[in-house]
Amino acid sequence: MSITLDSAPSTPRIAPHTPPSALRHDWTRDDIATLLALPFAELIFRAASLHRTYFNPNTVQISTLLSIKTGGCPEDCGYCPQSAHFDAGVPASKLMDLEPVLQAARAARDAGASRFCMGAAWRSPKDHDLDRVAAMVEGVKALGMETCVTLGMLRPDQATRLKSAGLDYYNHNLDTSPEFYGDIITTRTYQDRLDTLAAVRDAGISVCCGGIIGMGEDLDDRAGLLATLASLNPHPESVPINALVRVAGTKLDHAAPLDPLDFVRMIAAARITMPASMVRLSAGRESLSDEAQALCFLAGANSIFYGDTLLTTANPAIARDNALFDKLGITKQA
Ligand code: SF4
Repeated sequence: MSITLDSAPSTPRIAPHTPPSALRHDWTRDDIATLLALPFAELIFRAASLHRTYFNPNTVQISTLLSIKTGGCPEDCGYCPQSAHFDAGVPASKLMDLEPVLQAARAARDAGASRFCMGAAWRSPKDHDLDRVAAMVEGVKALGMETCVTLGMLRPDQATRLKSAGLDYYNHNLDTSPEFYGDIITTRTYQDRLDTLAAVRDAGISVCCGGIIGMGEDLDDRAGLLATLASLNPHPESVPINALVRVAGTKLDHAAPLDPLDFVRMIAAARITMPASMVRLSAGRESLSDEAQALCFLAGANSIFYGDTLLTTANPAIARDNALFDKLGITKQA
């Protein structure tokens, strides 16, 4: 399978209650820009209505993320402190050994996580490193957890290797719209990313793919990101929506702060355009108030990362998350 972009415009079609059999893959940028610009209450109502059509709105899935190989990445993603192009104070490390990874996975499982995600700061994995990651996937699966890895670009044979190790999800984000992408990353193309997503899908691995807002993009770029994601058929099973974490030393250190309500709008539009997907509240959650997070859950977010660090940036402490879940009557998905 190959994935290419289809940008043919069409008239906005926004149904408040799309039946489960009618997942759409023809959302256009105009459709989604119209959604993002709806009055807030209308947008949230539509998203919340679809959310409860497809999911229990009071249940949130918990993932824990471990950086198994940190820093020194040859890519130049403008937001990333792990890029070797920036001096963000993140030293490069080698790939972790198997046993400490399994220890971290056990601790995550005991804290309530059902999925363990492992991230490596690579342009793409070398085959001997992939064998070591495959052993980690097998070990985490044996603990009874779902597995996800993010390792950069993959060839089809590498995706097949991970599938045979039992990998459930592969994360590879599109980050932003095709048009804005070149302002953020120059060392790999948008089509490179789509090719990796196609290799993952063809191997039978579930796709985790989303993006980041707050990088200086405009509303049309946000719509363009969601239009690209929603044009994938099937939709990514997991859609992480990140708010930029401005890290000193990176290219986007001085980006303008993101309005939390714009983040909520993006969550809602992701829920409406990909209603059967898990929409994950991802990086940037640390800076959101409890009230803003509650709005995100109302707008259809139903997955979070859990733990004190998210690769190399801070994430809300587990105790704060548990307290918020208690206040909101949210239970963790088993
Ligand atoms: S986002 Fe990933 S690929 Fe890009 S610089 Fe960071 S670690 Fe490398």
